[in-house]
Amino acid sequence: MSRIADLIRPDIAELEPYTPIVPLDVLAARLGLPVERIIKLDANENPYGPAPRALAALAAEPHYAIYPDPEHSRLRQALSAYTGQPVERIVCGSGADEVIDLLLRLFLQPGDAVIDCPPTFGMYAFDTAVCAGRVVEVPRRADFALDVPAIEQAAAATGAKLLFLTSPNNPSGNLTPPEEIERLLQLPLLVVVDEAYIEFAESPGPTGNGQTGVSSWVGRYENLVVLRTFSKWAGLAGLRVGYGLMPEELAAHLWKIKQPYNVNLAAQVAALASLADLDYLRANVARIVAGREQLLAELQTLPFLQVYPSHANFILCRVREGNAGDLKQALEREGILVRYYRKPGLRDCIRISVGTPEQNDRLLQALKR
Ligand SMILES: *Cc1c(COP(=O)(O)O)cnc(C)c1O
Repeated sequence: MSRIADLIRPDIAELEPYTPIVPLDVLAARLGLPVERIIKLDANENPYGPAPRALAALAAEPHYAIYPDPEHSRLRQALSAYTGQPVERIVCGSGADEVIDLLLRLFLQPGDAVIDCPPTFGMYAFDTAVCAGRVVEVPRRADFALDVPAIEQAAAATGAKLLFLTSPNNPSGNLTPPEEIERLLQLPLLVVVDEAYIEFAESPGPTGNGQTGVSSWVGRYENLVVLRTFSKWAGLAGLRVGYGLMPEELAAHLWKIKQPYNVNLAAQVAALASLADLDYLRANVARIVAGREQLLAELQTLPFLQVYPSHANFILCRVREGNAGDLKQALEREGILVRYYRKPGLRDCIRISVGTPEQNDRLLQALKR
């Protein structure tokens, strides 16, 4: 090994490289298909795209040569109306992913423990490793429910500083019951509830805003953070904008460590305009939810799949006959991309994002073949 590589942090030098996703045009070329023929159901993106007002605002924004507002003031004001939380409790990031990273940087010293409940979203373990933390796994039960007593034992045994819960969980689609979250909030650690998919799980509150899930509990508990994103329900995955709701005191410390221009101007402009186009976006969410229920019913008629119910914009299926990897490959040859897992607890599983009715039909036809 070269001398300079010897200077790299040993824990990072030993990390497994992250497998990046293949860009759509590269994949299309590999499959010999035009890009428009590809049906991308592998990353829970919104098949209807951004709101028209977001696209118009992006085109009309005159200040791209100027650095963006480091305090995201207008966006946070709009998010305050959307979530019912005061602006002091809102921190925006370059995707919810960045807020995960910032929280871990704020709390972890080398070797500190973080409780992760797999199978779940991979970024909690990834960012914990990058921050030199120690991942303590408390696997979910066979039905993907949390093992609450085991989490409590792990917290006591390791002195973990953070616990990540995902509701609805990715990739299993199940919600965490509020009573379980309430019980886990009694632990002496930070509970991060990732609600990236909450807009697909419940009907909007009486005021027609984003006051769903456990967001209204933020501020009542000193150890609760709720994560949200514009990537899924608002169709802005490519622009990278998400946010965390957290007690003022915690937010004040996060402000000290975040990069000043972490949320770029295009992302701020598009997110703000999306919050002014809620009727449009909600109609698409309703279409996706209706598509999910229909797809679920159709998938259940296929004898080679075990289908899990979902409160999000994707459906997890266990391949009962044959091999999930082969099924993924066969779909890919027809230009249909789904997510395939090799991890414990997810062996033989594929995750299908809900597409437009036409895309869902093409998927079903391909599966029947
Ligand atoms: C997609 C996803 C995110 C990432 O959101 P970004 O805002 O795109 O970074 C966070 N949490 C879960 C559970 C997700 O599935």
